[in-house]
Amino acid sequence: GKPRVIVVGGGAGGATAARYIAKDSKGAIDVVLIEPTRTYYTCFFSNLYLGGFKEMDELGHSYGNLAAAGVNVVHDWATGVDRDAKTVSLAGGATLAYDKLILSPGIDFVDGAVEGWDLAAQNAMPHAYKGGSQTELLKAQIMAMPEGGTFAMVAPPNPYRCPPGPYERVSMVAHYLKANNPTAKIIVADPKGKFSKMGLFQEGWGNHYAGMIDWIGADFGGGNVSVDPAAMTVTIDGEETKVDVCNVIPAMKAGRIAELAGVTDGNWAPVNAADMSTKADADIYVLGDASQQGDMPKSGFSANSQAKVCAMAVRGALTGSKVFPAKFSNTCWSLIDTNDGVKVGATYEATDEKIAKVDGFISQTGEDSATRKATYEESEGWYAGITSDMFG
Ligand code: FAD
Repeated sequence: GKPRVIVVGGGAGGATAARYIAKDSKGAIDVVLIEPTRTYYTCFFSNLYLGGFKEMDELGHSYGNLAAAGVNVVHDWATGVDRDAKTVSLAGGATLAYDKLILSPGIDFVDGAVEGWDLAAQNAMPHAYKGGSQTELLKAQIMAMPEGGTFAMVAPPNPYRCPPGPYERVSMVAHYLKANNPTAKIIVADPKGKFSKMGLFQEGWGNHYAGMIDWIGADFGGGNVSVDPAAMTVTIDGEETKVDVCNVIPAMKAGRIAELAGVTDGNWAPVNAADMSTKADADIYVLGDASQQGDMPKSGFSANSQAKVCAMAVRGALTGSKVFPAKFSNTCWSLIDTNDGVKVGATYEATDEKIAKVDGFISQTGEDSATRKATYEESEGWYAGITSDMFG
């Protein structure tokens, strides 16, 4: 019969890979996508939902167009990979054989990363670092904050999904609070001494939200943090604070199925940059956040870019179609306040060792408002583009 590719995870990496392989192989490859959710809520732009710039249903995308384009969409969890038999087992009981397996399961959290927090506490102290219900919960909690209340964030250590994400979130929460609860305060406990686009964020926080945000970096004990979800307290470097909302973003690792497949180094899956195949198994590829991506940040843009490289390589391997040298690109936009958008981005190539940066760019401090507005508008165009590239 036809060769079969199984893709696990219908997010930025997996949906793109499945769609491109199905579309470009014109039926020569049997493509199966395993994804438990019927609607994928993007994490990208979820901070804009917190800020009141987007509605939740604008962030939701279904899999109907992928199915219509020839992808066999199976709504189930992959629970195991048998590499010798080349099969994937599903929670629903099925076992499916593959010729090539692409894993793009995103992230899971490192157990015990933040003292006092575990998954059972995610309602009291949401992470909102996977899309959908957690994001809605965090927004409801922000809206319910008492006048002059405190929003706390525990930021994650490197490497993690979306390097500017926590700081765009702080900006969007500040935007909401400035309009609705202007005496409220934001505290960020950060295990890092610096972060993505730091100069740009700090300039923006000073311009738009002066006096509202207290960022406590590693040098000031920001990494020495514990939480008590029952008491709603955060203890930073020995000092306990009662808070009204606490957004705990723990340390991350590859989605569990990558670990179960035995293709991680413990936390992330080392890959060959030319085709995103794993170092551990030439027939298993890992895309996006779960992979060790060399110089690329963990972003939806990166995952989508890697998926196209991988799709071309997998088609080439299975049908002999032409494979061009891998080229990757990424841009991470962040919104600081209304029409105040900033960006950082780069292009990359595959070396024997890793995905290596070629050229980069970043917004400058002190840019005029027309530039910042144009940058924000560019991000809206990107969102429309990537979601149709993923889901058709
Ligand atoms: P995901 O998109 O998370 O997809 C993983 C999928 O796999 C999920 O749908 C999950 O249900 C499924 N899955 C997991 N395990 C299994 C299993 N065992 N079986 C079957 N399915 C499984 N990126 C940007 O480019 N731009 C941004 O502006 C941006 N903003 C962000 C803001 C926030 C607040 C956050 C949290 C992230 C943001 N990101 C942004 C990052 C982006 O969301 C991720 O990098 C991207 O989604 C990674 O794609 P992925 O395919 O690796 O994982």
